[in-house]
Amino acid sequence: MIYFDHNATSPLHPAAKQAWLEASEKFIGNPSSPHRVGSRADAALADARQKLAACLGCDPLDIVWTSGATESNNMALHHFVRTLPPDAEAWISSVEHPCVLEAARHYFPRRHRLIPVTHRGVVDVARLRVECGKRRPGVVAVLAANNETGVLQPWREVLALCRMQGIPFFCDATQWIGKLPANGLGECDFVSGSAHKFGGPKGTGFLKCPAKGRVEPMLHGGQQQEGRRAGTENVPGVLAMVAALEVREAELRSAKLENGPWRMERARSDFEARMLADLAGSEIVGRGTARLWNTVSALMPEADCQQRWVVKLDKIGFAVSTGSACASGREEPSHVLAAMGYSPAEAGRVLRFSSGWETTEAEWRALNEALLKVCRGLSR
Ligand code: PMP
Repeated sequence: MIYFDHNATSPLHPAAKQAWLEASEKFIGNPSSPHRVGSRADAALADARQKLAACLGCDPLDIVWTSGATESNNMALHHFVRTLPPDAEAWISSVEHPCVLEAARHYFPRRHRLIPVTHRGVVDVARLRVECGKRRPGVVAVLAANNETGVLQPWREVLALCRMQGIPFFCDATQWIGKLPANGLGECDFVSGSAHKFGGPKGTGFLKCPAKGRVEPMLHGGQQQEGRRAGTENVPGVLAMVAALEVREAELRSAKLENGPWRMERARSDFEARMLADLAGSEIVGRGTARLWNTVSALMPEADCQQRWVVKLDKIGFAVSTGSACASGREEPSHVLAAMGYSPAEAGRVLRFSSGWETTEAEWRALNEALLKVCRGLSR
């Protein structure tokens, strides 16, 4: 099977697997236990915290280990609803992951506003600046990179705007981390990430939140993680996550040293050019704007519905997606494509191809051939 669904989840990286196995054998204690076995596990967590903080550019104490980005994002919005004044609004981009949108609907039922995006899927910072001047939100949330389209958001500009106006800024960086350098993300007040998107184990993630000042816990119980999240920490999961991230960050550093267009970017754009030439009526979502190097979101020719494409591609050995893994299988059209101005019929033609670090140019070419084959079969 050729796997083009890395935005849903990536396979465990060998370095992460090794770190997980070693940690499971070496750090058997509970990090909160008073004996040396416990202290050793606690020291391993402290070391992992240092390493992740160095990647993000923040204080190690700002990091809270969680079960993944869904928990981190819920924790952030839970914190804001508990700490902001009762009339404060949460402004969130209209292309957030469902775990931010639904958490905002839950915690701020009548007090959340959706920040619009352009047809290319990008938050308009100039417009946001004007809106913030009229009415100051309690928090602004804009994700770093969209999971369905790969479109990058101007999170640095939004952060600068929020800083100027004293508004807390929350950035879901789940799809950015491990694909683009994490450095600088630590400047945001709240940042979330999930290990399995970059070669770490599933069920492990983190929330960067200010160590200074109170962070309202969502889970109650023990006093782990300075009272910010109760529950025994997942030591092997955390160590494996950090091992995977360090591999990806090193790969990003060496990619920067390459001359000319980066190999990964080139493979993706060659694929897109071939697809547009092969399949009349196909279109790339977010074309012409900065996107993650691994993601292609494309409107397929009107031959058939997206589910038929997925099934047919699956039968000939390709794993692709209709959008976000969380949204696929649901009947409603993607809220991300709707926010970008696509009609439900157009959104119903979209497929997402997301590669990984190990995906080869030959695999991208094979996907081109498979799409042509399926298209011919569907339109017959
Ligand atoms: N945010 C984004 C942008 C995502 O892509 C995902 C996963 N699809 C999540 C949050 C949730 O991550 P997890 O399922 O690991 O909790």
